[in-house]
Amino acid sequence: MVQPPRHSGPIVSGIVSGEELLDWRRRQLSLGGHAVDLDWLLDLGGGVGWQPLQALRLHPQRPVQLQRDLAQLEQLWREHLRSAAPLQYLVGICPWRDLELQVAPGVLIPRQETELLVELALAGLDPRAALRWADLGTGSGCLAVALARGLPRSQGLAVDLSPDALIQAEANLARAQVDDRVQLRQGSWWEPLRDAWGHWDLVVSNPPYIPTAVWEQLEPVVRQHEPALALDGGDDGLSAIRQLAAGAAQALAPGGWLLLEHHHDQSEAVLSLLSRGGLVDVEAHRDLEGQWRFARGRRPQATEPPV
Ligand code: GLN
Repeated sequence: MVQPPRHSGPIVSGIVSGEELLDWRRRQLSLGGHAVDLDWLLDLGGGVGWQPLQALRLHPQRPVQLQRDLAQLEQLWREHLRSAAPLQYLVGICPWRDLELQVAPGVLIPRQETELLVELALAGLDPRAALRWADLGTGSGCLAVALARGLPRSQGLAVDLSPDALIQAEANLARAQVDDRVQLRQGSWWEPLRDAWGHWDLVVSNPPYIPTAVWEQLEPVVRQHEPALALDGGDDGLSAIRQLAAGAAQALAPGGWLLLEHHHDQSEAVLSLLSRGGLVDVEAHRDLEGQWRFARGRRPQATEPPV
């Protein structure tokens, strides 16, 4: 089951002067860690964003309203330094695109590189169309929430093998008020889509794709805390992607799209898996950092000759 954030006692807000806050910040940094992470905690856990924080340097006497008092923030910071637990889990939220998602141990923290997948998925689709879409390996539900908002007349399915992930996805769909348009289903990849086999207009996935040997070398903040189920893609990182590519031509509706995220060096291999799986218009796309991060392809229309 999902562990609640370790410091889930009542949140006590507080008022301090700018000077007190800046002093506190210096003391915390002397314990270790990175300023960028502490400032993230101040923003998402304390409600003091980067800009107001800078303004305090000019106006140290100004009072600052904190969403959590300094003792609570310090407890979270010390826990992060002690255990390398991601601050997103400790605070229980993660900003992603224009959303604020709930996250907890057991679910992958949404990554910035995944944000662009939503634009790619929606490109060329009429937002007024009534489509049938699915997000396989939904995790926090980040992609499912964004697709539901971008396709308000469509019905979606958010699938995950992990019950912990489905709990978070359910909460995030409800927070975004799109839960009437997205169903949740537990299961592995295509399996839960069988009842509309051949009728899926759009299927997206950010599957586990990190080769096991690379995963074993990741920093403790990822490897020791985030679910291996969401990250470890087997020996070459492609075991989930192989299954996704193999089922697509039967599961998708004629003309329907499959869109996947993959590791920075898997573009060629994934394009070839999609083509061999019978998809056409197979192409690669870059992420926000310029890495070849996405692959997509569509099932041919019944009238199109096979390639
Ligand atoms: N992009 C993630 C990372 O590098 C991996 C996500 C995934 O395997 N789907 O941490």
